[in-house]
Amino acid sequence: MHTIIEPFRIKMTEALPITTRDQREAWLASAHNNVFLLNAEDITIDLLTDSGTGAMSARQWAAMMLGDESYAGSISWHRFENTVREITGFKHIFPVHQGRAAERILAVTRLKSGAIVPNNSHFDTTRANIEYAGAQAVDLLTLEGQDIYSSRPFKGNMDIVKLAHLIETKGPKNVPFCMITVTNNACGGQPVAMENIKAVKEILKKYHIPLVIDGCRFAENSYFVKEYEPGFSGRSLLEIAQEMFALADAATMSAKKDGLANIGGFFGCHDDEWAEDFRNMLILTEGFPTYGGLAGRDLEAIAVGLKEALEYEYQRYRHATVEYMAGRLIARGIPIVRPAGGHAVFIDAAAFCPCDYPGIGLVNALYLEGGIRAVELGSVMFGRRLLGTTPDEIAAPRELIRLAFPRRVYTQSHFDYVIEVLDVVWRQRDAIPAYAITKQAPFLRHFTAHFARGESRKASFS
Ligand SMILES: *Cc1c(COP(=O)(O)O)cnc(C)c1O
Repeated sequence: MHTIIEPFRIKMTEALPITTRDQREAWLASAHNNVFLLNAEDITIDLLTDSGTGAMSARQWAAMMLGDESYAGSISWHRFENTVREITGFKHIFPVHQGRAAERILAVTRLKSGAIVPNNSHFDTTRANIEYAGAQAVDLLTLEGQDIYSSRPFKGNMDIVKLAHLIETKGPKNVPFCMITVTNNACGGQPVAMENIKAVKEILKKYHIPLVIDGCRFAENSYFVKEYEPGFSGRSLLEIAQEMFALADAATMSAKKDGLANIGGFFGCHDDEWAEDFRNMLILTEGFPTYGGLAGRDLEAIAVGLKEALEYEYQRYRHATVEYMAGRLIARGIPIVRPAGGHAVFIDAAAFCPCDYPGIGLVNALYLEGGIRAVELGSVMFGRRLLGTTPDEIAAPRELIRLAFPRRVYTQSHFDYVIEVLDVVWRQRDAIPAYAITKQAPFLRHFTAHFARGESRKASFS
């Protein structure tokens, strides 16, 4: 059979609002043209993020009913710990309320001011927590990974020549640990090859620098390794994940991604001293080490979800969905980042509609045309503001928008609808207006900024 189907059927439904263009015009205007300020009930297809937005399985809901809410040493904790240990092999495992809690505690317990932490690409919360601890977060993406139109596999890899050079020039003592993020979210959800993780580990071993894996999408990465890296086709996703984590000294994880849960995460490590420091800070800010800020039922949902994420048929369907949409957009000439990432399709908004803040223009056009919510990853999110100079802002290197795929939520016909909406917007791209920022916060401005609609390109050029 060539048709890859959703490997599940639907037991419970949730109504999608079907809205009119007039309604959407009014709602977007009252949200100051920022889709973050819309009510979710006014959105038909929500592709804002794949984080915590997945649908849980009947097995996960059933497991939640077994949640043991004992404060210490609950049965749910043991199930969670056993599953995480089976996958990662870590001696010490700690639940946390989400990925950034693990990052924060790791950063405050292991980093001193002036320390350097390399990564293939730091995710924004990882970078923020490292910088908050006074350390420096350095991205070491390969040149290939920086080229959005190269369709080479494993564009999420770390540049190992740059890694060796960084350690040599800065001194290994100033690098308390090195991270690698799978898949590489900040560079478009691109996967990292096992060979690359092994090469990173080899270099680090020479200098006795621990490797910390940011494993948020470890199961999606395992799928890419199985399908596209020579020598892995006969291995199960679980075996591939185990081989990967065996290379690591520690890992941070957001269960809102490949835990297939709506909340949660964990930290795992081998070193007793790291564990002792982590535990003490965990008790201070998250909770007792056998629940770490989660309910017993959350631990149950994650224990089941982590294993479901490693089911081959599930990953095959997920990958096929992303590829399906990417292929149809490419066929229409729509400029997207290639190859399609593991959890999202990224559109090059600068090529789509070159105007001021093109990502905002495109995101808003998708909402107005079809009630779809995407997110800008361009100068509004990553541009650097300068105070008291002209111009007062440095544009981001790229103007992308992201259509993230919530797990097990939308069917192929939903994606056909998204493709049709994009097709209409693409054909009318000259009518997409520029936007100007009229109000903004001093940091993380994209969440709350207000925008004013300017002239469309067509109008201003004619
Ligand atoms: C989401 C994410 C995080 C942070 O996890 P939260 O659960 O959102 O706190 C860290 N790293 C990567 C790569 C992520 O995608």
